[in-house]
Amino acid sequence: MMNVNRYVLSRSLHFGQRLVSRSTRRAATDAERLQQRRSIRTQSRNLAYAKDLFLGQVNKAEVFPYPEIGNEEVEEINQLVAPVEKFFSEEVDSAKIDREAKIPEETLNGLKELGLFGIMVPEEYGGLGLSNTVYARLAEITSLDGSIAVTLAAHQAIGLKGILIAGNEAQKQKYLPKLASGEHIAAFCLTEPGSGSDAASITTRATLSEDGKHYLINGSKFWISNGDMADVMTVFARTEVVVDGVKKDKISAFIVERDKLGIRGRLAFSACEVSFDNVPVPVENVIGEVGGGFKVAMNILNSGRFSMGSSSAGMIKKLIELTSEYAATRKQFNKSLGEFGMIQEKFALMSINAFVMESMAYLTAGMMDRPGLPDCSFAGIVLVAIQKT
Ligand SMILES: Cc1cc2nc3c(=O)[nH]c(=O)nc-3n(C[C@H](O)[C@H](O)[C@H](O)COP(=O)(O)OP(=O)(O)OC[C@H]3O[C@@H](n4cnc5c(N)ncnc54)[C@H](O)[C@@H]3O)c2cc1C
Repeated sequence: MMNVNRYVLSRSLHFGQRLVSRSTRRAATDAERLQQRRSIRTQSRNLAYAKDLFLGQVNKAEVFPYPEIGNEEVEEINQLVAPVEKFFSEEVDSAKIDREAKIPEETLNGLKELGLFGIMVPEEYGGLGLSNTVYARLAEITSLDGSIAVTLAAHQAIGLKGILIAGNEAQKQKYLPKLASGEHIAAFCLTEPGSGSDAASITTRATLSEDGKHYLINGSKFWISNGDMADVMTVFARTEVVVDGVKKDKISAFIVERDKLGIRGRLAFSACEVSFDNVPVPVENVIGEVGGGFKVAMNILNSGRFSMGSSSAGMIKKLIELTSEYAATRKQFNKSLGEFGMIQEKFALMSINAFVMESMAYLTAGMMDRPGLPDCSFAGIVLVAIQKT
C-alpha cells in the first residue's frame, strides 16, 4: 500500500522525487492488481456505448452493474486524497492566484511533490501509474482551484498524452520522466484563431527541410493552456504526404521543445497564443505516423476530457457547501434563507446535478479502466452535461 503522507512530509523536491519513484513502484503494481480484481467482463465489447444511446439502444450489460471498486482500492484512494485535500485547504491561495494571474512557484512545487503532474504516467517512466478512477477522484480536489485544475489537466490529460498513447519508446524515455515529475510542463497545441471545433481545418504548416532531417513549422495557435510555461508542446500541423503516388495534405503531430517559440498573451490560467516562425523540429519528433496526426489529436481529446466530469462535480459540491453555509446564516424576514421553499428547491436541483455528474464521471472512468481498448465515448456526453449545468 502506498504511503502518500510521505510526500507531504518531504518538502524538498529532490527528496520528494525519490519518494515518488519508490512509492510508485508499489502503486503501479497495486493499480494493476486492483484493476484485475474488479468484477469486469473481458470478452470483446462494443466500444461506442454512447453512440448506441443516440441510436436508441441501451446496452445495459456495458454499464450494469455500476463499476465498483474494492475496499482495498477505496482505502488507497483515501490515503491519496487526504494529503492532497490538506494541501489544497492549507496551502493554495486561490484569491492570490486570481489576483496575480499566476500560480506561485511554491504552490507548483507542492503539486509536484504530491506527484500530481504524473498521475497516470506509468511507473517505469517516473509517474504514479494510477487508474482513471483514481485520477477522477483526485481531479475532484484539484478542481477546487480553477487555474491549478486547468494547468494539471492541460499538462497530463492532453499535453503529454500524445507521447503516452502514440509516442515511440525513444520519445517516451526522453520526455516522460521529466514531465511526470513536473520538472517539465506540457501543453497541447491544436486550436487556431480560425480553427476550433473544426479541428481538421488548421492551417499551421510543417515543411520538410531539403536534407530531410527536420520540419520547419509556421503558424499560430490560440487558447493554449500552459502556453507561457510549457517546456514541451504537442503541436499539430499540416504536412505533405504521398499516398499511392498522389500528394496529399494531412495533419501530423510533433513534439516541440520550448526554445525558439514566440509566445503572446496571458490569462489567469496561462492560456496563450503561441506562434511558430520557421521553428525547426527534428523528424524524430513526429508522434506516430507522418499524416496520422488527426487521429492522434482525437484519441488524446477522447481520453483527455473524461476528468472534466469529476472536476465539475467537485466544483459543484464545493459551491453547494459555500452556498448552504450562506443560506444557513443569512436571515431575511426573520428566517434563514434556507427555510424558504424556493431556496430549498435550488439546493435540490444543485444536488441532483452534482449526483448525476459524479455518477456519469465515475461510470466513464470505470469503463475506461476495463482491460482492452478504453471506451471513451461516454466522456463526450459528460462534457455536454457539464455545459448544460
Ligand atoms: C479554458 C480553455 C482552455 C483551452 N485550452 C486549449 C488548449 O490547451 N489547447 C488547444 O488546442 N485548445 C484549447 N482551447 C480551445 C478549445 O479547444 C476550443 O475552444 C474548442 O475547440 C472550440 O472552439 P472555438 O472556441 O473556436 O468555438 P467554435 O468552434 O467557434 O464554436 C462556437 C460554438 O458553436 C458550436 N458549434 C461549432 N460547430 C458546430 C456544429 N457543427 N454543430 C453545432 N454547434 C456547433 C460550438 O459547440 C460552440 O458552442 C481551450 C479553450 C478554453 C475555453
